[in-house]
Amino acid sequence: MSQDTTSAVVDASASTGQPGSARGAGQGDAFENLLHETRKFAPSPEFAADAVVTAAEYEDANADRPAFWAKKARELLTWDKDFDQALDWSNPPFAKWFVGGEVNAAYNALDRHVENGLGDRVAIHFEGEPGDTSTYTYAQLTEEVKKAANAFESLGVAKGDRVAVYLPMIPEAVITLLACARIGAVHSVVFGGFSSEALRSRIDDAEAKLVVTADGTYRRGKPSALKPAVDEALAHKGDGDGHTVQNVVVVKRNGQDVDWHEGRDHWWADTVGAASAEHTAVGHDSEHPLFILYTSGTTGKPKGILHTTGGYLTQTAYTHKAVFDLHPETDVYWCTADVGWVTGHSYVAYAPLVNGATQVMYEGTPDSPHQGRWWEIIEKYKVSILYTAPTAIRTFMKWGREIPDKYDLSSLRVLGSVGESINPEAWMWYRKVIGGDKTPIVDTWWQTETGAQMIAPLPGVTATKPGSAQVPLPGIAVDVVDEMGESVPNGHGGFLVIREPWPAMLRGIWGDPERFKDTYWSRFETMYFAGDGAKKDEDGDIWLLGRVDDVMNISGHRLSTTEIESALVSHPAVAEAAVVGAADETTGQAVVAFVILRGDAVDSGDAIVQELRNHVGKEIGPIAKPKAILVVPELPKTRSGKIMRRLLKDVAEGRDPGDATTLSDPTIMQQIAASLRK
Ligand code: ATP
Ligand code: MG
Repeated sequence: MSQDTTSAVVDASASTGQPGSARGAGQGDAFENLLHETRKFAPSPEFAADAVVTAAEYEDANADRPAFWAKKARELLTWDKDFDQALDWSNPPFAKWFVGGEVNAAYNALDRHVENGLGDRVAIHFEGEPGDTSTYTYAQLTEEVKKAANAFESLGVAKGDRVAVYLPMIPEAVITLLACARIGAVHSVVFGGFSSEALRSRIDDAEAKLVVTADGTYRRGKPSALKPAVDEALAHKGDGDGHTVQNVVVVKRNGQDVDWHEGRDHWWADTVGAASAEHTAVGHDSEHPLFILYTSGTTGKPKGILHTTGGYLTQTAYTHKAVFDLHPETDVYWCTADVGWVTGHSYVAYAPLVNGATQVMYEGTPDSPHQGRWWEIIEKYKVSILYTAPTAIRTFMKWGREIPDKYDLSSLRVLGSVGESINPEAWMWYRKVIGGDKTPIVDTWWQTETGAQMIAPLPGVTATKPGSAQVPLPGIAVDVVDEMGESVPNGHGGFLVIREPWPAMLRGIWGDPERFKDTYWSRFETMYFAGDGAKKDEDGDIWLLGRVDDVMNISGHRLSTTEIESALVSHPAVAEAAVVGAADETTGQAVVAFVILRGDAVDSGDAIVQELRNHVGKEIGPIAKPKAILVVPELPKTRSGKIMRRLLKDVAEGRDPGDATTLSDPTIMQQIAASLRK
C-alpha cells in the first residue's frame, strides 16, 4: 500500500474561517452554513488501483437501486431459495426486500466459509482485558455456534422466540447472536453497562424466553459483575410482576461468586459445552425478524428497533466491503464498538463474518492497564482497518500523541469513524498520528434504525474532507431538504432525509407500528426523517450538524451545535467541547459552551475564555461567539460515548438536570456543578 500522500493533498494549508454572514443562508434553511473546510485528501493512485469498489458503482446503483441491491444480495450471500422480487414497497413505510427468498445468517457467516476451504482462517482474535487471549478459526466458531444452537433449542427456544442477551465483549456474545439467527430466534441485546431496570423493561417489551449472560467481566483491571443485575431483573416483587423468562444461560468469565436459581440457571459450559456439534442450518424467510435493538435513549424513551434478515445482511456486508475496502485474505479488521450497540451488531457480529474477514475483539477499556493498550493491540495483531468513535479519538488527543507514537501502527491502511460528527481537527489528528498521514478516513453516518452505513466516502474513490461524511453510498437516496421538503441547493442546511427504502432499513418498532409511522414518517410524509440536521457544502458534500432538537436560534439565526464545537476543538487549548442554546431575554437563545481544556491550558484562567470566544468569532463569525464558556472537568456522555447536550442545557438554564442514569458516569453532573461553583 502506498506511503506517498504528497500528491494526494489538495490545499492542505487552507483552514476554516469565513464569516457566516457573508453566505446569506436562505430563510427556509434549518441551519445556517458557517464552518468552511477546504482541505481534501484524494486516494493515492496505488490505493485506488487496488480498491474493492470503483466510481462505476455509483452509476450502476443509481440507474436502478433495487436492481443494484438484488445483484449485491446474490453476489454477497448464499440463498437457500432465490428471491422473486427485489423490493415490495406497495405498503409504505413497511418495506419488504428480496421477497420470497430464504437465507440463513449463521450459514452465511460461518458454514459456507468452511465448505469453501477457509475453515482454518482466523475469524476472531480475542483479547481479554486482563491479557488472556483466545483465537477462533472459522471452523471452530462454526462448531461453537452449532453447539449453542442445539443448547438453546434444548432449552425450548424455537423460531420466532426472543432471547435477551446481556453479555460483555467476549466471543460468546457473537456465538449467541449467530446461534439465535441460526435457529430463527430473535435476539435483543441489552448493553452490559445498563441497569437491572433497563434490562427488565427490555425483557418485558420483547417477552424474552431466554436470557444469556455472564457472571461478569473485567473493567479497568477489576472484576465487574453482570449476573446480579439479571437476578434483580427477574426477581419476583409481588403480584403482576411475572416475566416470560424460563431459562438463564451463564458464561463463566471472571469467576465471581453468583447466586444460583436451580432449574432456571445453567452454566454455558454445561449446556452449550455439552451439546452436539451437529446442526443443520435451514433458510429463513428474507423478512424473518433477526433482532430487536433498543436505541441508546439520547432523546427519550428507548424504541425497540426491528431488523429482518435478507436486506440487513446484504447492506451490512456490502458496506463493510466497500467502505473499509476489505480484502478478507489479508486484512485484519478491528471495530471497537460493544455488541450492545448497533455498530457491534452490524460491524462485529454480522458483516465481518459474512465477508469472511479476520477480526480482533477486545473486552476492556482503552486505558487498562495503560493508555497505550489499543495501540499495543494494533501492533500485536497487525490491524489494518480500525473502526471507532470520535469520543475515543478526542480522548487519545487529550492523552497526547507520545502514547501512540511508541507503537508500530504501520499496518493500518483504513480508519473509520462513527457515532457523532468527527470534528475536523480530530479527523486530522486521527489521520496524521494514528494513520501516519497516509490512511483514508471514512466518516460513516448511520443509525440503529438504518441498520447499516448510509453516508460515507469510498476510500478508493472519494477525496476525503476532514469532518464530513460526504456522499450517500451507492444505492442509497439521501438528501438535505428545507421545511417544505424541497431539496436545498449546495451551500445550504436543512433536514437530513432518506428518499427511498434501503435494504437494511428498520422494519418497525417492536409491537408499535403507529409509533414507527409517527416517529420517522410524519415530518415529511413520503420520506424517512432521521432527526439529524445537515448541510450540503459548495461541492454537494454532506455535513452532519447535530440533532434538529439541539439546533440553536440566536437572534433569528439557526446555528449548529456541531459547527461551534468543531471551531472550539480546533483551538489547541481545547480537548473537548459541547455547545447548547440557553434561553436568553435579548437574543431568544444564547450560545453556551462547556469545554474541557488540554493538560497545559488548564491553569490559564479567564484569559483563555476570552481567547476562545474570539477564536469562534474568527472561525465562524461574530454571531456564533459563545455568550458564556464554562470550563469543566468532564462532559456528560451516554455509554456509547455521545455527548448528552440535554443535561447541559438544564445546567445552562439553571435547572436541576433530569434523569442522568444513562450516563457512562452518573457522577459527572455533580462534578460539573462543583466546578461551576468554584
Ligand atoms: P436515540 O435515538 O435513542 O436518541 P441515538 O440516536 O444516539 O439514540 P444511535 O442509533 O446509536 O442512537 O445513533 C444514531 C445517531 O448518531 C445519528 O442519528 C446521529 O445523530 C449520530 N451519528 C452517528 N454517526 C454519525 C456521524 N458519522 N456523523 C454525525 N453524527 C452521527
Ligand atoms: Mg437516534
